[in-house]
Amino acid sequence: MRFAPSPTGMFHVGGARSALQNWIYARQQGGVFVLRIEDTDAARNKPEWTEGILSALDWIGIERGSYEGPYFQSSYAAEHRAAAQRLYEAGRAYYCDCTREAVQARTGNQYTGYDGFCRDRELPPGEGRALRFRTPDEGVTVVTDLIRGEPTFENKLIEDFVIARGDGSPVFLLANVVDDMTMGITHVIRAEEHLPNTPKQQLLWDALGVKPPIWAHVPVVVNEKRQKLSKRRDKVALEAYRDEGYLAEAMRNYLMLLGWAPSGDREIVPWSVIEDEFRLDEVNPSPAFFDEKKLRAFNGEYIRALPVAEFVEACQPWLTGTGTIAPPPWQPTEFDPAVFAAVAPLAQTRIAVLSEIVPNVDFLFVDSPLIDEAAWNKAMKEGSAELLDAAVAAFEAVDSWDAETLKATLEAVGAERGLKLGKAQAPVRVAVTGRTVGLPLFESLEVLGRERALTRMRAARV
Ligand code: GLU
Repeated sequence: MRFAPSPTGMFHVGGARSALQNWIYARQQGGVFVLRIEDTDAARNKPEWTEGILSALDWIGIERGSYEGPYFQSSYAAEHRAAAQRLYEAGRAYYCDCTREAVQARTGNQYTGYDGFCRDRELPPGEGRALRFRTPDEGVTVVTDLIRGEPTFENKLIEDFVIARGDGSPVFLLANVVDDMTMGITHVIRAEEHLPNTPKQQLLWDALGVKPPIWAHVPVVVNEKRQKLSKRRDKVALEAYRDEGYLAEAMRNYLMLLGWAPSGDREIVPWSVIEDEFRLDEVNPSPAFFDEKKLRAFNGEYIRALPVAEFVEACQPWLTGTGTIAPPPWQPTEFDPAVFAAVAPLAQTRIAVLSEIVPNVDFLFVDSPLIDEAAWNKAMKEGSAELLDAAVAAFEAVDSWDAETLKATLEAVGAERGLKLGKAQAPVRVAVTGRTVGLPLFESLEVLGRERALTRMRAARV
């Protein structure tokens, strides 16, 4: 089994899903998982994308050192060229000097594939001549696909495709096959978008005299509009989810549900259950909907299930602004881990992604609250100022600064004005935290302390 990403951009969630499926399948079959970086497109590859793939795989649980590789396709150029040469010498491939325009001129204005013009011209190799594979004119190519049964392709409809460019460099179709052969790959699990390549590649396996692999083309991943997830339109980078505060465990659980489900009515299950129960041949071939809302809900559940100490630990990158995560709005010296630990259990039940920890607790660590203008205008109504004055006076007088006392006190202040607690809370909350929603107010006031809470409430009056 192998995972063979091209380092041409951020690592895609669909790629992560295929990698996990390969990984599990290799374990179930007692096989080996190989990572091969298909880095032959020099114009589009960048070393940082390769590093991004490795670290994203690490994060999702496919850790460096636990698999074979990474191998780099670019180091096998000699093998690719040798295979092209063998096909040429065996008469299975021929040189062609047709430009696209020339083919188009012959076949009418639409380019519908190569017309076979050079098939029998017996051109020798030469500068600018591409090498084309001579596809059979008859018969069919039957692909064995664990998910799709036996897709069958008529050979006469498969054009004579290019296997090496005019400068002699092999194209993806050939390089990919030769590497799979060299590495002894028996199962190719990859995205559905490669299915049109598969009959061509299987013909290459046959022509090179090696038994083709078993294929599994996993379903395309689509957005809510049923469009294929795209870099330009959708949030597709695994790193983006990581930096937003999705837990790797939630993410990989969710990714495995794209086109498959564990037994019973369960969706959130321990990874060990997925490793046991996943069956490649149970994967549904139809497009899989990547439902970000559902993923968020999943993540919230995973967050709530963490022991508090682990939750506190998991929040650290957002509290300190580590790596690619934006720094929080407070100075590191203003941050107090003990204060954070006190409110962490309150926040844990309220957030769906870890980055949301910051707006929930920032009021504790900044000098004055970060006022959200809209929240302020919504909360500060007629009578709010008087209510705040009364609340300040009442809070100044309490014997004990604890959540329960503060609640009872504000309840009484509200009642005198015919206000329910919810209404009475709003201006206090926005004065103290800058927002209309957040952690429970009275616990927040308790942790913030009398001095700071009263200062903010007074400041809201001027
Ligand atoms: N390098 C190809 C890609 O990134 C993978 C091809 C394959 O898995 O066979 O799409």
